[in-house]
Amino acid sequence: MPRHDWLAAFDEFKALLFWQSLHFFSGGIERMIDLLIRNGILVTVNAQRETLYEHSIAIDQGRILDMGPTEVLDARYPDVQETLEATDKIVFPGMINTHNHLFQTLFKGLGDDKVLADWLADMTFPSSTHLTQEDCYVGGLIGTVEGLHSGVTTQLDYMYPHPKENLSDGVIRAFQELGVRGILGRGYMDDGFQFGVQPQMAQTVKEIEKDIRRLARDYHDTEHGRIRVWLAPAAVWSNSKASLLMTKHVAEEIGTGISIHISETMFDRQASEELHGLPDIDVMEKLGIMGPNFLMVHCVYLTDRDIRMAKIFDAKISHNPASNMYLSSGVPPIPKFNVAGLTVGLGTDGAGSNNSNDMIESLKLAALMQKVTHRDPTIMTAEKVLEMATIEGARAIGLDHEIGSLEIGKKADLFLFNPALDMKAIPMHNPVSTLVYSSGNKNVETVLVDGHVVMRDSCVVGIDEPSLALLGQKTADDLSLRAGTTHLKKRPWKSLSY
Ligand SMILES: [Zn+2]
Repeated sequence: MPRHDWLAAFDEFKALLFWQSLHFFSGGIERMIDLLIRNGILVTVNAQRETLYEHSIAIDQGRILDMGPTEVLDARYPDVQETLEATDKIVFPGMINTHNHLFQTLFKGLGDDKVLADWLADMTFPSSTHLTQEDCYVGGLIGTVEGLHSGVTTQLDYMYPHPKENLSDGVIRAFQELGVRGILGRGYMDDGFQFGVQPQMAQTVKEIEKDIRRLARDYHDTEHGRIRVWLAPAAVWSNSKASLLMTKHVAEEIGTGISIHISETMFDRQASEELHGLPDIDVMEKLGIMGPNFLMVHCVYLTDRDIRMAKIFDAKISHNPASNMYLSSGVPPIPKFNVAGLTVGLGTDGAGSNNSNDMIESLKLAALMQKVTHRDPTIMTAEKVLEMATIEGARAIGLDHEIGSLEIGKKADLFLFNPALDMKAIPMHNPVSTLVYSSGNKNVETVLVDGHVVMRDSCVVGIDEPSLALLGQKTADDLSLRAGTTHLKKRPWKSLSY
């Protein structure tokens, strides 16, 4: 077993021991706890995949202290700071968006119906080269708020263009202010100019390494562990061997994860062969980057041999169905990954190639794209999709000992789902089916991260959402003006005034 897994298993053991002993010793002793979620339907996504009816969750100091039948927990915890009534509501583990580019939230709708080369050249590259830290902050805010409304408690953001210094800090500031769990994947490129990489977006290995070390020093494992910093080279063909080797060494030194786009299109494999002499995934293996802390994004064109290799190294996969369809990249062989025992998390990808940060939408797309491709409605179930968005996503980012399911000792990252808030979810016969196939953001009522309520009664705490919407529109309009992409708009939006 790799060292990473031993450590995770040991941490899990310690956490369970601690919380179970606390639970044991506090039995019969009345003491005030922080929060009780009372009398809900708990879709636990635990090892037995239990759904518990008329159950409550006791939360204290950010973690799930106890779970049990409503009357048992009512008697056991008479003294609570706050009670959230969950009668006729469902409690799900918070969803984990394993791949996003939050700055692209400002690009929604500008890159529609284009082939990838035009999508990059006409919209994404010009827009990205004019980004400021404030743009990244506002894009981070509106994208993360949108994510919260769809039950996302953890985002892995992949911030790859750096035409100016300290752009990542804007995204991290958004995470901090909203109180979510956020991983900043510091992206970069230093090569691949023959394939269209813009010189303004590239940096030297020295510059990249310096900024990663600064970000890790200032932010990694801060905010009670909610903020983390990963390394995220943009693609194998846009990074030199020196950059990729730096990635490996710095990730080892910091003790953190690596994410990279792998085999999203056949171009990724061919360009990598041209630059490095091997397809992208093979370059990763050759340089010693494949491992349990390595998250490969997309993997549409992995071969059977690649899948076996990924399993041997316990490398993880992020699946982004909306983006794969939007850009016509193709259909990744997710059922094959599942049969091989690979860990597959779910992601939205950036809103430039999805047009939203809506995870609930991606749940449905993940199921339907496999059903129609295989012409087999049994190939991908709602339950499997929920696993990818929760416990498998947690495993994909190395945090399954802390989040991804409702279990005693884990962090209280979860959301309350109220079917009655939107007719789309009525009638409800099966909670998981309702979430995946017949719900929307309106059904997500309350969201907790680290035991704190970050969204209450459909309003994100501490944010005036109508004002944020205006700021988001203005920031995107200003960026579009600077980037020269106004011709991609139909006309100025008249009903938002700022
Ligand atoms: Zn991406």
